[in-house]
Formats: sequence, structure tokens, C-alpha cells
Amino acid sequence: MVEPEDTPRDSGLDADTEKRRVASAMARVNADLNHRAEKAKHGDEGARQAAPILEAIAMFAADPSLAASIDALIDAGKTAERAVLEGFGQVEDMFRAIGGYQAERAADLHDVGQRVIADLRGVPAPGVPESDVPFVLVAEDLSPADTSSLDLTKTLAIVTSQGGPTSHTAILARARGIVAVVSAAGAEKLKDGDQVIVDAAHGRVVTEPTAADIAAAETAKAQAAKARELRGRAGATKDGHPVPLLANVGKPADAKEAHEYGAEGVGLFRTEFLFIGNAEPPSVEEQTKAYAELLAQFPGRKVVIRMLDAGADKPLPFLTPEDESNPALGLRGLRTLRVHRQVLEDQLKALAAADAQTDADLWVMAPMVADQWEADYFVKLGKSFGLRKVGAMAEVPSIALMADKVAEVADFVSIGTNDLTQYTMAADRTLGSVASYQTAWHPAALCAIKLICDAGNAKGMPVGVCGEAAADPDLAVVLAGLGVNSLSMTPIALDDVRAALAETTLAEARKRAEAALDGAGYTPAG
Ligand code: PEP
Ligand code: MG
Repeated sequence: MVEPEDTPRDSGLDADTEKRRVASAMARVNADLNHRAEKAKHGDEGARQAAPILEAIAMFAADPSLAASIDALIDAGKTAERAVLEGFGQVEDMFRAIGGYQAERAADLHDVGQRVIADLRGVPAPGVPESDVPFVLVAEDLSPADTSSLDLTKTLAIVTSQGGPTSHTAILARARGIVAVVSAAGAEKLKDGDQVIVDAAHGRVVTEPTAADIAAAETAKAQAAKARELRGRAGATKDGHPVPLLANVGKPADAKEAHEYGAEGVGLFRTEFLFIGNAEPPSVEEQTKAYAELLAQFPGRKVVIRMLDAGADKPLPFLTPEDESNPALGLRGLRTLRVHRQVLEDQLKALAAADAQTDADLWVMAPMVADQWEADYFVKLGKSFGLRKVGAMAEVPSIALMADKVAEVADFVSIGTNDLTQYTMAADRTLGSVASYQTAWHPAALCAIKLICDAGNAKGMPVGVCGEAAADPDLAVVLAGLGVNSLSMTPIALDDVRAALAETTLAEARKRAEAALDGAGYTPAG
């Protein structure tokens, strides 16, 4: 909408008439949004999710204090349109100043204000243009009203220059299954008729795509559609060798996404989120509540919870020493927990309490376990708290070298390939200058993984992978060939990994593992 000018009101327009015009415009916008909410309730699943959002934003148009501040602006000599713009603008600024979730509501509020101004001018509310042909919708941002009423047969994708990942555009686009890239740099430069590839998986928009870009996008699209069809099937090779596919999650609410992508359980719950940003560890009660919230969403399913991994790239002010010159080689993971025994015991206590309240199959593991003695220490301690399955993460090469002994004491091992690669290659995972070493395709990393798989399979100890390597479909097949029993990854990667396994027999996977151990998947730098 063109911004109403800030010129003094025509002397012929008295304040009371202007106030009445605003009041009726606000009432009509309120009614229109409530009507859209009603309609959304009878739409598809995603549209239904929009109904309460629309009802909530409709209330902005019925807010008496907002109406009062608009009236005051009219009394001060502003036109009705300008008073609406400024009145809404004041509250929008307040929302932005609060930041976070509230700041993203400012866009919703702005949309309501624009609708009121449109009504005052007697023009249609700003919205999505009609089109006879399918299109990629490019906008500064979209209102919930727009996103919820988009015609899915026409809208190929959404690109916005504004809006964060928790903006309603992103939330509703996701709920309606619309490909969307929000906050895309340069989106405002796109013109009608431009050809673009909207690559939501990588959060980017490819402009002026070459024939090769288009062919690659078409292939990726076809593969993704095929992979999606397998959702709901358990992970297995072509010949039926099971490889359960689990989700990595960072907070209990991530369970929803894990289910959406067909995860068979959780293979890694990083518990740091409860501790980061706090001045002291959360209480046993707080932790119990969070763990129970996650476990309750996976009745009868495996859920692997990792103990706090403080230190190195995840420093915690109340636990991590400040004077370490090589923090990755310092106090982190289980080493930190042993020094802060109360934190360790409180977390175990909370896990046992959450386990008692829920029906998931809880497995608990410690990060950065160096050898069989540390594994034994943690397993015994965990069991003394009543936990049934207690294991170790394999992230340090020493644990791979001692895997035979570890398999005698641990209930399971989960390989953290991010750290295992960092420590095997002596390359800091946070440093760009040595990033080329940070690949689990390196045969040395694969050798370490093989040592653990061989020991686990010989002694009947389950071995999983929960590092990024599990999310690479080709590498996932190699890991299955090396003898890994389960794979855990970010939920969005599950479709492609499931499809890659389903296309390969176990014998083929073993062959690829052998080739990879010979360096087939690794390109040495320079
Ligand atoms: C890993 O190291 O592979 C892992 C899963 O743990 P994080 O990435 O949290 O260190
Ligand atoms: Mg790690």
C-alpha cells in the first residue's frame, strides 16, 4: 500500500466523523479476518492450522487501546489513514523492541493496519495477485491471511525477503507443504517472468539457472518425491537387512518433525539446550519435565538421550574452565561431568524419574568417553540410578582402539562421527582452514568406525551412528556395510537415507564399504 501522507487533515473533515470511519473500517477488517478463520477451519490440514492464528490477528482490529491511540492521533489533526498507520506503527515498534517471537508478530500487526487503510480508501486489501498459470510467489513478506488462503494448485513456491524461520509465513508454508525460502537476500530484485529454482532444502534461490542447474533440480525433485513415498517404512537394505533410522533432536518440540519424517525413534537428544544460556544448571524437576516431555512422544520406541556435553565448542560458564588453550582437548563431555559430580548425578536422577513416568525405551549415553574404564564408570553409575540401557559415545579415537574391551562393559555405543573425525584427523571442527580434513569419508575415520562395528557385532553390542555422516545417503550405505546397526540424523535427511538403503543390498553395501576403506569416497586436498 502507498503510505498515507502526513499532511494536516482537511478542515472540512471533523474528528468525530474520521473516528467513526476508522471504527467501522476496523470492525469490517475484524469481521473479514474472523470469516477467513471460519473458512480455514474447513480447509486442508495446513489451512486449519491457520484458523487460530487468523482469529488472534483479528483481535488486533478490535483492540480498544489501539483504537484509543488512533483516536488521539485524529484529535491531533491527522487524517484517518495516517492515524491508523501511525497507531499500528507504535505497537509494531513496541513488538520489535521486545524481540524474538514477539518481533515476528509485528508483521502480522502491520498487515492488519494495511487492511484497515485499504478499507478506508475503498480499495481491495493488499494480497496475492490472481494468476491463471502456476507461479513462484515473491513478496517482502506474506500475511497469515495470504499464506492460509494460497491456492496450492497454483503456488509452486514462496520466496520472501523478510521473515525469520519462526515467522508465520515459514510456519504456515511448512504446515501446508509449500516450498519456501524466507529472508532470501536479493528477493526484491526478482521480476515477473524470471526463472528461478527455489531450493528450500539448502535455503537458497538460484537465479538465471543453467540447463545443468535445471536438470539437477528436476532430478532432485523426482528423487525427493520417490523418497517421500517410502516414509513410514522401517529403514532396511533392499534385501531386508534392518537399519533403524532415528532422529537427532535438540528439544522436546523437535519430536513433531521427527514423526513427520518417519523417524523410528530418537538416536540422539542433545541435552545442552536445557543448560545453555543459564547461569546455573537446571533443577532435577525442570530436567525431569523436559525429558518426560520428549519420552512421552515415543511410547514403545527407542529414545537415546545424551548426557550434557559441556566444553570445547559448547562451553558453559559455570562448568568450563576459561584458561584452556586447547578446549577441544580439555575438559568436555564426561570429563566435565566427572569433575562436577552433582551435575552428573542430578541429570541421571532426572532421567530415571522421567523414564519411570513414561513408556519409551530409554537409552542413556555419555559423550567423550575415552576407554573401557570410563565406559565402565558411567555404565555402573547410570545403572545405580535405575537406568536400564547405558552406553558410550565413540568420539575419541582411543575408544575405537579399545572397542573390544568397551563392548564387554557398555550396553551400546553410538558413534559421533563429527568429533571422531575431528580427533582422528587432528583438525578442529570449528576451523574453516582445516575443514577439508573434516570428512568421515576419510579412510582413517572409516577404519575407526569399523573397529567399533567389528567389536560390537562380535560381542552382540549395538553400534549406532549419530554424527552428520549418517545424513549423507551414500555414506549411510557405507556405514551399513561396515556393520553399523542404526543411523540417527536430522529428520529432514531421513527420506533420502531411507531411499538410498532401500536401493542397495547388504552385500553391495559391504562392497562399497570395502572400497571406501580403500579411499574410494575421499578426495585428498590439493
Ligand atoms: C558428534 O560428535 O558426531 C555428535 C553427534 O555430537 P556433537 O555434534 O553434538 O558434538
Ligand atoms: Mg560430539
